[in-house]
Amino acid sequence: MNTAVQTSSARQVADVIIIGAGPAGIAALLPLLDAGRRVIWVDQSTRAGGQIWRAGLPKNWQRQLDDALRHPLLQTRFGCTVIAAEPRGQGPGALHSLRLQTHAGTGSQALRVAAPQLLLALGGRERHLPFPGWTLPGVMGAGGLQALVKQGWPIAGQRVVLAGSGPLLLAAADTVRQAGAQVLLIAEQASRGQLLRFAAGLNAGKAKQAVSLAWRLRGIPYRAGTWVQAATGQDRLQSVQLNQGQSRKELACDALGIGFGLLPNTELAQLLGCQLRPDGAIAVDEGMGSSIPGIYAAGECTGIGGVDKSLVEGALAAQSLLAQTTPTATAPARQRALRFARHLAEHFALRPELLRLADAQTLVCRCEDIRLGDLKAYSDWRDAKLQTRCGMGACQGRICGPITETLLGWPAQQARGLRAPLQPGRLGAFAED
Ligand SMILES: Cc1cc2nc3c(=O)[nH]c(=O)nc-3n(C[C@H](O)[C@H](O)[C@H](O)COP(=O)(O)OP(=O)(O)OC[C@H]3O[C@@H](n4cnc5c(N)ncnc54)[C@H](O)[C@@H]3O)c2cc1C
Repeated sequence: MNTAVQTSSARQVADVIIIGAGPAGIAALLPLLDAGRRVIWVDQSTRAGGQIWRAGLPKNWQRQLDDALRHPLLQTRFGCTVIAAEPRGQGPGALHSLRLQTHAGTGSQALRVAAPQLLLALGGRERHLPFPGWTLPGVMGAGGLQALVKQGWPIAGQRVVLAGSGPLLLAAADTVRQAGAQVLLIAEQASRGQLLRFAAGLNAGKAKQAVSLAWRLRGIPYRAGTWVQAATGQDRLQSVQLNQGQSRKELACDALGIGFGLLPNTELAQLLGCQLRPDGAIAVDEGMGSSIPGIYAAGECTGIGGVDKSLVEGALAAQSLLAQTTPTATAPARQRALRFARHLAEHFALRPELLRLADAQTLVCRCEDIRLGDLKAYSDWRDAKLQTRCGMGACQGRICGPITETLLGWPAQQARGLRAPLQPGRLGAFAED
């Protein structure tokens, strides 16, 4: 028995709880503190920054964040994961309530926090699509690879291929090259025509960013209409087989970062009863209010759109949390961010060939070792889960759920039903009330 587990029946209460310390959470925090709100700020990471600012914030944001972190009205709960939640009941004084599990030092501790208002700034995660060899050591999500390198994973001298779709491949290539890796190839599944149309539709600011990134990546081969057919190796990755339309090519490498875009993180919103849109993101109104009174959402969890969208939505959510009214029209800055999000989605749409890469032997559920062939005997997610344990491992279906939705047409995440704990938790987190 782990004696380091401690529970406390004390519940910490604030005016607002922000879950997520990425750009959306940061943009919301500052005006809330300025307006005198008591804020509890939760993130499973041990510091603020989210996915994009993992290695440090831009200077202007860092200065403001440093001030905020010293603010007497702020309590940070970093290194804490929200694993369970109950929406507030009726009546004045009712509070939304969250259970956190902290992972500090050698033990873990359970905490309860509550507030009349919540802001879900939960971010997104990588979409995975299986292909033969995708579970070999050395094959990683492009964002995951980038995150490891930002946190100091030694990659100098390794031969890296980045493949999949979208701008995250370029950002990851930039990070791993700066860390001393040799980037052999960026394989983009979108066609050359799609890429040209994407570039032509960028506004001046985004075009400038793209040119600056292209300059930093000069010398790295970038191939459109190219994707990884399979990864091969004995005990770890040794090479990738590339499909370039009419031709096939094998390329020896040490690491493969694969990125098929992002998916919004919505599990906590679902547990609280918030409605999702048909595309799986949290449904919000013009003021970032969800379908549950007092619960707001901002950033990638309301639809994938990049850092500018997250910053704009975080600031808008703060305005609504303070005013407690809903604007009647979409703010112009959010309109621009949503336009860019649509532009991204349209030009980096995944080609149908990518959905046919996995064969019967390809693993779909990496936690429980379930292959595509094992799943084809079942008609839906629940049946497969009960019979095979697909989705019942450590990731709780975050990876294989969207895969079965895409490859087998099983009902989307929102139809599967969700129960606490959202992530594996210690019994101590539920032992007291
Ligand atoms: C792996 C990865 C790498 C990326 N790299 C880049 C990049 O280099 N450049 C770029 O432009 N964009 C990148 N992106 C896109 C990125 O999502 C956005 O640009 C930006 O970070 C979004 O900000 P956000 O605040 O909406 O979400 P995020 O930055 O993702 O922040 C969300 C935060 O919520 C926390 N959280 C979520 N659920 C819980 C919970 N239950 N309990 C506690 N905390 C929780 C997470 O720990 C996270 O810190 C990346 C995305 C991913 C998934």
